[in-house]
Amino acid sequence: MSLPIELKPTRLQRVIDLVRQAGVDVTDWSNYEKGRDNPGANPKYCYEWAFVQPGALVVLNLWHEAMLEVNGGVEQHFSFRDSAAREEKNGARKARRRRMEEAIALAYQSGLPVRVVVLNGNRRAPQERAAKPSTVSARLLDTVPWAVVAYDNATGKGVLRRGASASTYADQFSLPPPPDGKSGKHEVTASVRDRDSEVRRFALRRAKGKCQLCGASGFQLPNGSMFLETHHAIPLAEDGPDSVSNVVALCPNHHREAHYGREAKTIRERLLKILKAL
Ligand SMILES: [Zn+2]
Ligand SMILES: [Zn+2]
Repeated sequence: MSLPIELKPTRLQRVIDLVRQAGVDVTDWSNYEKGRDNPGANPKYCYEWAFVQPGALVVLNLWHEAMLEVNGGVEQHFSFRDSAAREEKNGARKARRRRMEEAIALAYQSGLPVRVVVLNGNRRAPQERAAKPSTVSARLLDTVPWAVVAYDNATGKGVLRRGASASTYADQFSLPPPPDGKSGKHEVTASVRDRDSEVRRFALRRAKGKCQLCGASGFQLPNGSMFLETHHAIPLAEDGPDSVSNVVALCPNHHREAHYGREAKTIRERLLKILKAL
C-alpha cells in the first residue's frame, strides 16, 4: 500500500501559483490593499480550499495523508457536510468547507475535471475542535486530473478519484450562474435538488449528444462536454415521474418548443413514443 511517489509534496509552493497553473483566472487576487505587491497573500483567496473556473474546472486542496490506494488507483473519500457541522465554532472555517462542498457538487453535476493541490504538513485531526489550525509545509499541483466519481447530494458524501474522467455530457442544470450573478444561482440549485441528477446523467448518456427529437448534435461547453437540455416528457407539475422512462435530452430549440410551441402537444406524444421504444 503506497501512493505514487510523485504525489508527495516536498517543497512549499504558493497557492496562487498552483491555482494559476491549473488554469484558474487569478486576476482578482490583486484586488485588495496589498494586492499590487503581494496578490498571493490576498486573505479572500489564499486560505481557500476550493477554486472554481466556471464551465472549465475545479481546483481542490487535498491532504496527502487522507488519500487512499483503492483498486490500483488513488482516491479520497469525503464527507464534507459532517465536518462542516462540527465546525460550528469557527464561522470562517465552516464557510470554507461549505464552499468546498459546493465546488465538489458543481464538479459532479457539471462533469468538470478536478485538479488537485496536494498538501503535506501538520494536519489538524478531523475530529478535533481545538482552535489550533493545520499548518502546511509543502504543496504541489498533481499533473493528473481527478474527477468526482460519486456524490450523494442528501448526505454530502462522495468519492474523488485520480485519473478518472469527468462526465462528457452536460445539461441546463450544469451551467454556471449567469454573469450578472443575481438571477439564476438560487434557482439552479433549487431545481437540481428536486431532480435526480443520476436520471439526468443517464438520459444524457443515452442520447449520446444528439437531440432525441431531431437528431441534431448539441454544442460543446468550454470544458469539452456536450450540451443538451434534459426535459420531462410529462412535466413534474403534472405528476410525470422523475425517471429515465420520462426524461429525454433535447436541443435547446426543441426544448423551448416542447414547452411553448404550438406543436407542444404533438411533441409530447412523439417523445412518449420515442421513450417507449428505447
Ligand atoms: Zn432538436
Ligand atoms: Zn423541459
